[in-house]
Formats: sequence, C-alpha cells, structure tokens
Amino acid sequence: LDLSNKSSKVSKVGVMGGTFDPIHYGHLVIAEQIRCEYELEKVIFIPAGIPPHKSNVRVTDRKDRYLMTLLATITNPYFEVSRIELDSNEISYTIHTIQKLKKIYGKDTELHFITGADAICELDTWKDVENLSKLCTFIAATRPGLENSQVDEKIETLKWKYNTSIKKIKLPALAISSTDIRNRIREGQSVKYLLPEPVEYYIHKNNVYV
Ligand code: ATP
Ligand code: MG
Repeated sequence: LDLSNKSSKVSKVGVMGGTFDPIHYGHLVIAEQIRCEYELEKVIFIPAGIPPHKSNVRVTDRKDRYLMTLLATITNPYFEVSRIELDSNEISYTIHTIQKLKKIYGKDTELHFITGADAICELDTWKDVENLSKLCTFIAATRPGLENSQVDEKIETLKWKYNTSIKKIKLPALAISSTDIRNRIREGQSVKYLLPEPVEYYIHKNNVYV
C-alpha cells in the first residue's frame, strides 16, 4: 500500500519582468493571454530595480514604477507584484531573480518567464543564459514592428544554442510602448486607453513624466 501522495501537482507560475516605466495595456494583455493559454496559476510582475539593458537611459523612480504596477494589476486576482528587484541595490539580472524565486517556490514549481518578441531576441545578451535556461522556460508574445519570420528564426537559433524551451504566442497586436507613452505625455498628447486609468491619473497627479 503506497500512501505517498505522488500525484501532487506541479504548479506553474508566470514571471513578467520589465521596467514598467510606465506599465501599459501591452504588458497586461500579454500576461493575461499567456496566463490563460498556459494555465498559469498566477503571474508575478517584477519591476526591475536597475534594468541591465537600460544603463544609458534615465529610469523613473522605483516607488513610482512600483505603485503604477500595483494600480494596473489590482483588478486581476491572478496578478501580483513583487518587490524582489526593487528592494535590491544590485543590477536586476533575471538569473538572480529566477534563482530567488526557485528557492521560494521549490523545485516542483515551473517558472515561465514572459517576454515580448523584442526582449526574447536579445536573450544572447542576458547574464548567464545557460543556467537561466535550466531554471525556467520562456514564453514570448509577438510585438508589432518586428518581422515574424525573423523572430521565428532567432528563436530557433536560441533554442538550439541554449537547449531551452521558448514558446511563441501570437496575440492581438498592441503597438503600445512605454517609450511612446512617455513621449506623448511630454508633448502634452493624450495617452487615454493606452494604459489603465488609475495609472494615467497617478502620472498626472504626481507629474511623473514632466
Ligand atoms: P520601453 O519602451 O521603455 O522599453 P516597453 O513598452 O518595451 O518599454 P518594457 O518594460 O521594456 O516595456 O517591457 C517589459 C516586457 O514586456 C518586455 O519583455 C517587452 O518585450 C514586453 N512588451 C512590452 N510592450 C509590449 C507589447 N506592446 N506587446 C508585446 N510585448 C510587450
Ligand atoms: Mg522595452
């Protein structure tokens, strides 16, 4: 008689990294669609403290990016926000974050790192990709502005090079970017319907991008 509970199910958690400067509907739509498609129990949004790939650009205060991410995700019971990178003074390398999450969630939890097509194409430049590939899988959403066949080719090369799982998912195209939103605000143009209203109010109330 075997009383051990061998059927204990493996949980699947989505991890959504980004600068979120500010968070917008592009981020939210890909996270929600991937959560449903891959039956993820939840998606953890992790705003970067010091983004490794943005050392030459000014990034908005961590407190503002944290609060905007919180405001944007509050209505989704499957979304949560982690301060794991914001509370650290080190450069926010995904490998370190995933190692920390592995410790927290244990080896039976599958971690699925969610990115856009532009981010996954840069995987070669990420710190310690070999080890990162052993700890999580990648799910990349298409992003307008990128040629699909080129992205597919790049993904095939990366899969082969790092022996890793990278899935691509085609989603309703949202040509929204934080860069465009910041520019619009600086130029006094409307950003309505590009990002959740509470985030828009937060930006205006606190003069985040002036
Ligand atoms: P910025 O213009 O400042 O780089 P961004 O809009 O690209 O901002 P990030 O915080 O850099 O937002 O992106 C976090 C993650 O979300 C990345 O993996 C990026 O590819 C993905 N992403 C952002 N916007 C979209 C979008 N409209 N469609 C698909 N993926 C997106
Ligand atoms: Mg970006």
